[in-house]
Amino acid sequence: MSAEFDSKLAATRATLERIAAEFAPAVFASSLAAEDMVLTDLILRAKLPIRVFTLETGRLHQETLGMVDRIREVYGYEVALYKPDTAAVDAYVKNHGLNAFYDSVEMRKECCRMRKVEPLNRALAGNKAWITGQRRAQSTTRSELAMQEDDPAHGMQKFNPLADWSEDDVWHYLRSNNVPYNPLHDKGYPSIGCEPCTRAIQPGEDVRAGRWWWESPDSKECGLHVVDGKLVRIKAAQEA
Ligand code: SF4
Repeated sequence: MSAEFDSKLAATRATLERIAAEFAPAVFASSLAAEDMVLTDLILRAKLPIRVFTLETGRLHQETLGMVDRIREVYGYEVALYKPDTAAVDAYVKNHGLNAFYDSVEMRKECCRMRKVEPLNRALAGNKAWITGQRRAQSTTRSELAMQEDDPAHGMQKFNPLADWSEDDVWHYLRSNNVPYNPLHDKGYPSIGCEPCTRAIQPGEDVRAGRWWWESPDSKECGLHVVDGKLVRIKAAQEA
C-alpha cells in the first residue's frame, strides 16, 4: 500500500504507545468490529498495558460474541465483558416490551443508555483515558472527529487513533496482518451493533445506513460519544 498508509500506521502505533506511557491506566472500548480489531491487534501484539473491554449488551449477534473466543484463541487474551444491570433490563422489558426501541427515539435511547451507557460508565471508572475505533468517514455525526479530545462527561481524555483511516486502510491492515474479523462483515454489514438494530446494506449505501435505519441520519449515535446526554459536535465539546 502507499507511503501515506505507512505513515498513518506509524502515527497510530505512536499514539497507542503515548497513551500507554502517559495516560495509564487506559482502556480500549472494543465493539469487536473491523476497526476495533485493528486496534486490538496493535495493542495486543505490542503487549501494551491497555485493557480491552466490550459492552455485552445482551442483544449482540452470535457472530459478534464469537469474536471474544477468536481473540482468546489468537492472542491468548480475555476481553473483559461489561453487561447491563439485570434489574434495569427486567424493568424496561416489563414496562415497555423487549423491543420498545422501535417505538420512538426516546425508547431507543433509553435502551442504549441501559445496555451501553451505564455499563460503559462502569468500565471507564478509575481510568485516565479511553480509546475508540471511530473514524471520521463512518457517518455525518463523526465528520469532525478529533484524534484526541476532552471527555468531560467521564473526566478523562478520549482517543480516536483511527480518526483519519479510510475503510480501505482498515481492510488493508486486517488482511495483510491476518487479523481475525467478524464474519458479518462479509455478509453486507460494514457497521455492526446489536442484532435487532443492525441490518445488512446494499452496495453504495452509507456504511452506517444499516444502524437504526428507521431513524434520521443525524440522530444515529448510541449515547457513548455525547456530552451531558446530548449529541454535540466534537469542536463544540472541545470548546466547552
Ligand atoms: S442498539 Fe438497539 S438493542 Fe442495542 S442497546 Fe441500543 S436500542 Fe438497545
